[in-house]
Amino acid sequence: MKLMGKIDRIDAEAGNDGEARTKAILVDYKSGSVPSMTEMKRGLHFQMPLYLLALRDLLGDRFEVIGSAYYQVKSPHEIGLKSLLITKEDLRRFSGATAKNLFESPDELLAFLCEYANRAAQIHAQIQHGEFPPTTLGETAAKCEWCDYRRICRVDHQRMANIVSDV
Ligand code: SF4
Repeated sequence: MKLMGKIDRIDAEAGNDGEARTKAILVDYKSGSVPSMTEMKRGLHFQMPLYLLALRDLLGDRFEVIGSAYYQVKSPHEIGLKSLLITKEDLRRFSGATAKNLFESPDELLAFLCEYANRAAQIHAQIQHGEFPPTTLGETAAKCEWCDYRRICRVDHQRMANIVSDV
């Protein structure tokens, strides 16, 4: 399965010239809303888990990619790292910070990432067999506003009715 994406930023630990791999965290800027950890843990947002796995594959020889975070850039009250995929210990050692809903161990984080990878592979296989099950998310959560296929999508019947009546 091939995926395309662009990672906004990689933060690497400073001053690590020893033999150990430099620790790094990937960061994705979001000017809109950020997926909550609850949604991420429900398996609804593939971007960060797949970015994290891809980056580990790409930089694994030189960097130990320990986690990821969204950096929300919204109003002055809504700026900062959100929905981190990292263990409590790694975040504390990397930045001295703490956050809610972090992972207890690298194994727990890896199992979480692997579940996403397996699910992505399953969906990919379904698509290759012509199966496109409709989303169970609402229009906002599914980000239909940004979808290239929204005009032909069978999920939103009301929009289809509007298009037909406009012709
Ligand atoms: S418009 Fe349809 S295909 Fe596009 S994101 Fe929404 S539900 Fe999915």
